[in-house]
Amino acid sequence: MSDRVIVRFAPSPTGRLHVGNVRAALFNYLFAKKAGGKFMLRLDDTDTERSTEEFARAIETDLAWLGLHHDIFARQSDRIADYEAAAERLKSSGHLYPCYETAEELDRKRKRQLAQKKPPVYDRAALALSEEEKRALEASGRRPHWRFRLDGEQTAFDDLIQGHIAIDARSLSDPVLIREDGRFLYTLPSVVDDIDFAISHVIRGADHITNTGVQIQIARALGAVPPAYAHYSLLQGPEGRPLSKREDAAFSLGALREEGYEPMAVNSLLARLGTSDAVEPRLTLGELAAGFDISHFGRADIRFDPADLDKVNAALLHMLPYEAVMGRLAAAKCDLGPAFWDAVKPNLARFADVAVWARVVEGPVEPVIEDGEFAAEAAAMLPPESWGTETWGLWTEALKGRTGRKGRSLFMPLRLALTGLDHGPELKNLLPLIGRNRAEARLRGLTL
Ligand code: GLU
Repeated sequence: MSDRVIVRFAPSPTGRLHVGNVRAALFNYLFAKKAGGKFMLRLDDTDTERSTEEFARAIETDLAWLGLHHDIFARQSDRIADYEAAAERLKSSGHLYPCYETAEELDRKRKRQLAQKKPPVYDRAALALSEEEKRALEASGRRPHWRFRLDGEQTAFDDLIQGHIAIDARSLSDPVLIREDGRFLYTLPSVVDDIDFAISHVIRGADHITNTGVQIQIARALGAVPPAYAHYSLLQGPEGRPLSKREDAAFSLGALREEGYEPMAVNSLLARLGTSDAVEPRLTLGELAAGFDISHFGRADIRFDPADLDKVNAALLHMLPYEAVMGRLAAAKCDLGPAFWDAVKPNLARFADVAVWARVVEGPVEPVIEDGEFAAEAAAMLPPESWGTETWGLWTEALKGRTGRKGRSLFMPLRLALTGLDHGPELKNLLPLIGRNRAEARLRGLTL
């Protein structure tokens, strides 16, 4: 079974990815990875008015940033001939039928039904048209749109997250699969692709549950066995409303990348939000996949809180070994060696903060001297080099004996003088990196 797992992320390139819609990519990727299966990226670009190359490229950039590389790629605009062939089959089997109502006519019907307190379901009037009436409509310039004739029965499936679901087809209008200009809506291409690429599981948001009832019927009408389905609850914004591309631009992947978040922090949080598993930073997608279980997702709404991302991001940075960040430190001109990284990483919220501490070590630092006499005394008592992590303790112990200062009144003036700041990494780790020269100068009030 496991070598037959093929899943897909199928975004429409009509907008950017954000923390909500990228979950489909992440969950499908992790699901495939855990099963040793394949992950497909499919661009659902049949909506030629709204799809753009720019959005398609942005999606690929965002996925690459997260490390969600695909094994299979397709774009629907390349496969129109396959959809047309499938549509022909559905026409000849009577599953797809032409309708000639205009948008206004349909709207009027709907209003009438609602006024009569009836569900606004398409009345299938077009099924009653004779060949002659159809010809007359076409002669008058009308082009048909095509609807799929739903089976009146319930369509039931066992969802891997939601459990048993039954969609009552009588409450749905026969869906339009082809518009009057001949373009396909997303439904049929999606089913044809899922069949042709042997998709084993469709993992997507709960907003698609009703579509699933329709798609299962279409797959069966095409003689295929539908895939398994898992519909996860949607992610809401911090205020508990659905995420919107416009209002929540700060939660787009592009914005998070610019903000300097670690891609694995984003992955680590999103992969566990909404599950019964604890959110813990993971350094690799492989580790994240190992603990990923689709059945651990619940049905309740989930909130995205940026504070959670901050927490995971910091925790992840604190875990990173020097070897993992050497290249990035060098690129940021902050590679001061493993002792430096280990000293400062517990104080990082974002990787870029490392520059602040590199500057504290290398200077120039403008020292803050509160008590010149004490600082001068401290400078005079600095032990000779070489220095290690024990130096700070020996030095401050001696200073304590000499001056009677202790606790904050001993340590804070030293920190302010040595770093120019009132907070930061442990001084026992920083002091040997700052070195005697700079330490002495700073304690004497010199900017170095
Ligand atoms: N293009 C669809 C969407 O973005 C795909 C949904 C799906 O079948 O996964 O909503």
